[in-house]
Amino acid sequence: MHKRIMMIKGDITHLPVDAIVNAARTSLRSGGGVSGAIHRAAGPKLKKLCQQQRHQQGACPTGHAVITDAGNLPSRKVIHAVGPVWRWGWRATLKQSQLASAYQNSLLLAVEHGLQTIAFPAISTGHYHFPRLLAARIAITTVRDFLKSNPVISQVIFVCFSERDAAIYQTSLDFYLKGEDDLC
Ligand code: ADP
Repeated sequence: MHKRIMMIKGDITHLPVDAIVNAARTSLRSGGGVSGAIHRAAGPKLKKLCQQQRHQQGACPTGHAVITDAGNLPSRKVIHAVGPVWRWGWRATLKQSQLASAYQNSLLLAVEHGLQTIAFPAISTGHYHFPRLLAARIAITTVRDFLKSNPVISQVIFVCFSERDAAIYQTSLDFYLKGEDDLC
């Protein structure tokens, strides 16, 4: 059966989906990690598109997202979503809602642009140090709830770059999608 939410282990830059999501900075400049890989694979055109976007609309605040064409990537579009930098303590609740917003705003952009297949990396879990298990829960439950009320999106793929992330996502998907037979 066709799965609306699934997980793969691999490199997000290889996926021929409608949109891949970039774990972007507010400046929309390429960093290391997944954004470095995306910019390398997309070529210099993506840098130009991000600069244009930045000039037109300013920085992209944490929890928000913008969309550009995808340069040389096999996907049609890139959605640049800005996740939060993790902090323990009193700011942790805010960080969790900002991560949920990053996923939600990416999906809203996809719907606005008529995009049906979207691939997400584990936003904020690299240089931004978000706890991986917590980030996976937020990613999966936010996407699950969004897809229930948005039939336009036909498939969301969580792309795990390591064995460890793949194991975390597999366990979390089994748990949070239990009984959701139309999604998994
Ligand atoms: P952030 O700054 O939001 O934490 P990072 O790029 O540092 O973003 O890391 C986010 C996640 O992306 C990490 O789990 C990292 O392992 C993963 N990642 C790095 N490169 C790739 C890639 N080519 N494809 C998919 N995921 C990747």
